[in-house]
Amino acid sequence: MTVTLGDPGTVIICGDHFDGRADALGGPTEILVKDGRIAQLAPAVSRPPGAPVIDLGGHTVTPGFIDCHVHLTMDAAHLSTQLLDSTATKALVGPRLADDYLDQGFTTLRDLGSADPAQATWFDHEMQALCDTAARLGLPVAVHTGAAQGCKQAIACGARSLEHAYLIDDEAIAMAEDAGTFIVPTMQMTAEDIQALHEGRLTSYTAAKIERDAEQIIEAQRRIAASRVKIAYGTDCGMFPFSHGNLEFQAMVNAGLRPARARRAATGTAADLLDRSDIGVLAPGAAADIILQSRHRSVSTRQLAMNYRSGGRRASTRSSMIWKSPMFSVRRGTPSTWAVAAMARSIWRRLGLPPRRVTAAAS
Ligand SMILES: [Zn+2]
Repeated sequence: MTVTLGDPGTVIICGDHFDGRADALGGPTEILVKDGRIAQLAPAVSRPPGAPVIDLGGHTVTPGFIDCHVHLTMDAAHLSTQLLDSTATKALVGPRLADDYLDQGFTTLRDLGSADPAQATWFDHEMQALCDTAARLGLPVAVHTGAAQGCKQAIACGARSLEHAYLIDDEAIAMAEDAGTFIVPTMQMTAEDIQALHEGRLTSYTAAKIERDAEQIIEAQRRIAASRVKIAYGTDCGMFPFSHGNLEFQAMVNAGLRPARARRAATGTAADLLDRSDIGVLAPGAAADIILQSRHRSVSTRQLAMNYRSGGRRASTRSSMIWKSPMFSVRRGTPSTWAVAAMARSIWRRLGLPPRRVTAAAS
């Protein structure tokens, strides 16, 4: 259902809701959306004359999901041939991938650029110089990390987030807790790798690496889940199909996260990582970036991921998304910037909204 909002506002009746911050679903509520913002959220909001009422009494309403780690210019289905594509061609792939992902309720993406660096190693002073320069420019630093030592170095230098942190140990987790460093653990990526290993789809180099590390990575995921560290939802989609992106919820729950914390990872906590207090939450003043989930109450995040997966496109934006706020997080000057700009235009067109400017932010 697509709703074009303007005066006098729109009333949404929610059978249940998750506000992006709480430890559990918040029960039935009503939301008044006005001018793209949540104007009221209460058991009974005002009914401005002429305001349409959307009755979602059979559904759970949540903030739009945020995936903090995607590669919009990489199409997992064609990775090997894509190496030969021009930058422009790659950029054109992005809107389609993002558009598909929108159908799973992901309304904000942080794009990490064209490729993962193959475990680049930095000297401490190099990493420090990088983080210091970024801090002076007011830019957050996201560091791809694997080994525990790399995690510790990134935390010590003031990185805002550790991406992957595949082999993080207890000491590094404690450091991240103390420093307030976010971890984007991309847990589904490992499940994808293990699956690919079993199906013989990996190169011998990667297969050897996964065989060597898989058990330790899964153990590290359990440690992360058992900690108090700030966990943000990120998938590495692009390296594998975007249609599997919602399975990160399930991977998180498998590692030991409570479903509410997994939901927070994709809403309130992810918004904290992006430093966007206006998204990832249902609260008065926040952007009306709202999605609904297909079942009423007591649907666990695990079931939700399964539903979305088996439901495929039927859990589509056309039927499930209420409102997309004009929020995009992209890196400046990368092909992804163009991809996201094109994506934004196509989404706004689809929702019948006037085009807006796409703001590029660094990550
Ligand atoms: Zn990545």
